Amino acid sequence: DPSENAAADIAAHFHSFTNLAAHPEVGPLVITKGDGVFVEDDKGNRYLEAVSALWCASLGFSNERLAKAGSDALRGLPYYHTFTGRSNPTVIELANKLLSVAPVPMSKVFFANSGSEANDSAVKMIWYYHNAIGKPEKKKIIARLNAYHGVTVASASLSGLVTNHRDFDLPIANILHVDCPHYFRYAEPGESEEDFATRLADNLEKRILAEGPDTVAAFFAEPVMGAGGVIPPPATYFEKVQKVLAKYDVLLVADEVVCGYGRTGEMFGSTTFGMKPDILTTAKGLSSAYAPISAVMVNEKVYAPIARNSGTIGTFGHGFTYSGHPVSCAIALETLKIYEEDNVVGHVQSLMPQFWKALRSYEGRKYVGEVRGVGLVAAIELYADPENRTSFDPAVKAGARLVEIGLTQGLIVRALGDTIVFCPPLIITAEELDELFARFERTMAIFEETIG
Ligand code: PLP
Repeated sequence: DPSENAAADIAAHFHSFTNLAAHPEVGPLVITKGDGVFVEDDKGNRYLEAVSALWCASLGFSNERLAKAGSDALRGLPYYHTFTGRSNPTVIELANKLLSVAPVPMSKVFFANSGSEANDSAVKMIWYYHNAIGKPEKKKIIARLNAYHGVTVASASLSGLVTNHRDFDLPIANILHVDCPHYFRYAEPGESEEDFATRLADNLEKRILAEGPDTVAAFFAEPVMGAGGVIPPPATYFEKVQKVLAKYDVLLVADEVVCGYGRTGEMFGSTTFGMKPDILTTAKGLSSAYAPISAVMVNEKVYAPIARNSGTIGTFGHGFTYSGHPVSCAIALETLKIYEEDNVVGHVQSLMPQFWKALRSYEGRKYVGEVRGVGLVAAIELYADPENRTSFDPAVKAGARLVEIGLTQGLIVRALGDTIVFCPPLIITAEELDELFARFERTMAIFEETIG
């Protein structure tokens, strides 16, 4: 039965990404507190949070330094804006800090509040930039099927998932989608990863030529696709894609919202996969989710014409009330300091062999089709018959059932359809990682017993 809290929630709360018709029967799990990698619900049940909530609570759920940074900031300067001629010391320090950790030389940092807003801002900057350099016809932005870039009108258009488009009249004009780089699913029989990457880069070039290179402005990519199913790029993919982009003067945007700050085993996914973006968007791990904040970093090539043009019309006409919010900035700054001082990237690297050994042990299991990922982000894709690549009947709701069983075992994992995601807080210890997989094994055993 829904708890008292859950019943009150059902009465008043219009939920995101929820089957609202089914919701009244089920109600939400009401989480009341957290402790390291664990969270607790209002009935006192404890769960190991194996997805960092929404891929974001990288430092877990009870970091005292972050709590103090937030409360100190609230008592210092709770708010000031960053519109024309205004700034605050915290945003200044954070902007400089971000430039110092960027994976490629970046020139300036723009602040927003969410990954969606960061990507939306990037779209406007791309259009503004091409107008400023006298190429206003360069308007089209290419993203990929299965990408997830957010939910605002432009970022949902960039997302390549049907749930983001259907019934919202999206995508908007000038946003196109090309191949999803999922090797296991889309490679032709006998095709190597390298050949698959060549084919996708060739397809991209053909698409740019068909659209007209003079009309193509930018290409958006997550280093590892997150919500589209944890899909790392096939070997040589970004090298080949970037050659095509360079040939037709198409900007590259790296959406590091999930990958940033150690998730891939390096500070940025761009480094892991050899991406050299002109624009980089970041959120989630930027504040370890302790406050809403996102950022767009742009290189000098992009920034200089934007700045010049803003002189002509008198302003760069974009920005949010909470761009550079001092409390969010203080928490983000402290987060970045902790990543550095605690060598969180080194910690991730030290855990990777254990994480991947445990994950790989599920290859060949009765209902496991593919195990994939990188660093501390991974997915196990469930199939009814992996050998023949037969998916479960959607009515079976295999992924959702596994998640429900996980809860009974004190484990929170996430299902994207029948793909089960692991994205634990980066501070997880070796013992907690063992505990995660002990709980997952019990979950999987019950799933196997009951699904047939
Ligand atoms: N980009 C990526 C890669 C994401 O995974 C997400 C959210 O999951 C977003 C953008 C959107 O971020 P937000 O939900 O903060 O708007």
